[in-house]
Amino acid sequence: MQEISQEQIMKTLEGVMDPEVPVLSVLDLGVIRDVKIRKSDVEIDISPTYTGCPAMDVISSSVKNAILSIGVNKVKVNTVLTPPWTTDWISEAGRKKLEDFGIAPPQQNSKIKRELFEAAQKVPCPKCKASDTSCVSLFGSTACKALYKCNVCLEPFDYFKCL
Ligand SMILES: [Zn+2]
Repeated sequence: MQEISQEQIMKTLEGVMDPEVPVLSVLDLGVIRDVKIRKSDVEIDISPTYTGCPAMDVISSSVKNAILSIGVNKVKVNTVLTPPWTTDWISEAGRKKLEDFGIAPPQQNSKIKRELFEAAQKVPCPKCKASDTSCVSLFGSTACKALYKCNVCLEPFDYFKCL
């Protein structure tokens, strides 16, 4: 059984594209956290871009199949949740590719995003004024709005987060 090199793995991962933004490889996206090679077995740690994002299953199986196709005996893909992935992890090359593709690369750094998220978590319900609300998505009906749900009256509402 031939031994697989780190270079071979990396080269293969370069060819595994993000299903949502097909110009970005999983390496550009920064979701590959660790690659461990034991003889002909490979173990890869991946961080999901967003927890529960269905694209992650596609990414995991694409990574698995790509690695298997270069003659690796066994591939194990682990999901690593901490620290969470942020857009800061998109590589320089990845940002350039996004621009070339006509997508504005994310400008907001993760710290601002986290502060925004934390500040946004203390939003009272506009209907029943309860303070027990939770953020469902940072992006609601428009990019400027976050989607919330009231835990008391159970009504969903938009929170305008841009000042
Ligand atoms: Zn309410």
